[in-house]
Amino acid sequence: MKRGNRARFQQGWPNFRPPAGYLEDRATKTVIKDPVNFDLVRRAWDLLLSGSTRPRQILATLNNECGFRSRSNSRGHGKPMSFSGLYAAFKNPYYMGLSQLRNGETYKGGHSPMITEQEYARAQEILGRPGRPRPAHHDFAFAGLLRCASCGRALVGEVHTKPSGKRYTYYRCHRRGHDSLCGEPTLPEQAFTDQMVRDLGRMTLKPEVARWITQQLSRTLRTEAQQLSSVRESVERALSQARTEEDTLLSLRLRGSVDDETYERRRLDISSRRAHLDLQLDAPLPTVDTLLERVEWITGFAQAAPQLFRNGTPVQQRQVLETIGSSFRVTARKVAYDAKKPFVFFDTTASDSSWYSVVERLPTWIIERNFQIPEYSFDTLDTVPRKRQVA
Ligand SMILES: [Zn+2]
Repeated sequence: MKRGNRARFQQGWPNFRPPAGYLEDRATKTVIKDPVNFDLVRRAWDLLLSGSTRPRQILATLNNECGFRSRSNSRGHGKPMSFSGLYAAFKNPYYMGLSQLRNGETYKGGHSPMITEQEYARAQEILGRPGRPRPAHHDFAFAGLLRCASCGRALVGEVHTKPSGKRYTYYRCHRRGHDSLCGEPTLPEQAFTDQMVRDLGRMTLKPEVARWITQQLSRTLRTEAQQLSSVRESVERALSQARTEEDTLLSLRLRGSVDDETYERRRLDISSRRAHLDLQLDAPLPTVDTLLERVEWITGFAQAAPQLFRNGTPVQQRQVLETIGSSFRVTARKVAYDAKKPFVFFDTTASDSSWYSVVERLPTWIIERNFQIPEYSFDTLDTVPRKRQVA
């Protein structure tokens, strides 16, 4: 690679057109946020990260509701996002701040990241879920969520209309009825929602408990925020080690002690490691206020979850359930599921349910922002301040 190019890439100016949401500013040789599309593409990431919107639906929202159009080139007009384009975007580490060249080298880009590294990792996990169940029909809120515990098949929704004209929704195992191989009884939707309202009730925080938890955590998190700077020092050490490795590799190469293939593989490996460390070093440390805001999100959701579930649309109800649990399995008209942290901490019937232990366990989740709350709860809850930031 030419020396000039190398310097250019290290400053973050790429040799390719930046993806949707970014623009080249030729005058300053920098990549800037697209004033229109940056927020729209971020919205697409939010929908993906909510965990309950499929890429096809995200594409429709992006193009039809948000009116996304690509930047027009000299020849034509802007176009809606294509499905493959959206998929490629969700796989593109550029959005978390990395610039990957065609030759495999990775640099920390000069542009502002749209998402964090953690969000990127979570997005890849969501995209990679094997055989992700999906709702076959919008009328059946929980069809993609529920599986048969006996045979593992997805449950399908059905509507029965009584002679009185009243309609009842049921879920039954996909194998039942076709070849009668599965004997699981059908699950009335009402029985399921009743159970979930009870379960959500058990993990609902009382306002005074929420206040107590917040008070305790504000002390802990102040200390934790100070300690985060020592994490930064270890990143700096790792970075200087990577630089040393790079130098060593180069001198081995010059002496002819490594073959081309090994040299190239090691070099790309180090470049990628360096880029990630650069990115970590660049990411702003969460402030005490940011951490306390996350406490409010969590405790706000934990106070309002049953109300959000009762008043929500089917899609929103599903998001509430995906916030607190995963792999919902139905057996004998009862639903079992894996309760998700940190919300399971608030379950008063859990084995270790003292509020002191909750306060001990929560900080890790808050610092790593390792939780997801449905977008819409931010609009619905007065207790939860709506604020978005890449931090
Ligand atoms: Zn079954």
